[in-house]
Amino acid sequence: MGERPPQIDTANFWDNNVVNADLEVPDAELAESTARLEAPFESMTETPGSTEINLEKGKILILYDEYDKSKGIRKINNLIFKTEEKEISLFNIIPWNTTVCVQKEPDPEKQNGYVEPSRGNKNGEIFITGELNCPKMILVLLHEIGHIIDFGKLRTGETQQINDWRNEDERADEAEKIRRERVASAFALNAMRPYTTSNVLKKDAQNFLFSALSGYCKTAQEKIEKMKKRKERVEAMQKQHEKRIKDEEGEIEE
Ligand SMILES: [Zn+2]
Repeated sequence: MGERPPQIDTANFWDNNVVNADLEVPDAELAESTARLEAPFESMTETPGSTEINLEKGKILILYDEYDKSKGIRKINNLIFKTEEKEISLFNIIPWNTTVCVQKEPDPEKQNGYVEPSRGNKNGEIFITGELNCPKMILVLLHEIGHIIDFGKLRTGETQQINDWRNEDERADEAEKIRRERVASAFALNAMRPYTTSNVLKKDAQNFLFSALSGYCKTAQEKIEKMKKRKERVEAMQKQHEKRIKDEEGEIEE
């Protein structure tokens, strides 16, 4: 491990990336983008154990296990992005002990996907709730892979986490969540870029990921507002209490 990167300034991060982040996508535009992203790929070949998706510039090859019939879940064994010039296996850039699973049916309870980093004996896990048959779900998968790579960098100190023990700013935890989401979405957008020439698809992907980030930013700000209000209430109660004690002491002296 090299030297620790410098501490991220929470206040600056908060102002630039949470409060003043320009992520808002108009509802109508988002609905159009989402509809296009959820339309199944036009050119897709499925054979037992694999799916090949043809993109404008290259292909995605997904290698699967068979579905576990009772759970409706299958494991992905490889995910290969191919252009004429090069071939990238995403399983070569995530930790070897990460499992990636896909659930056949979407799950409204969970978001489209989630990730759990490895801990102790437990392997890291990426879980996608819905078939990988449209651009949206590929973006979701790439976003989760972005998280796993970021977790790895945090562990080796290559990336600086915002909520450091030295940082007592109350916004630090929330800012760290936002930092993680931004990094994961930036990874997804960059990973997709070489395979498409369509500016529409690029804009759709950006709209989808930005609107999710915008939601996270709003939630974070609401949490901090609540914390601030609670703190103010506690302080007001303390002041009242102190005043009462003083008044009572005054009465005794009289
Ligand atoms: Zn995420």
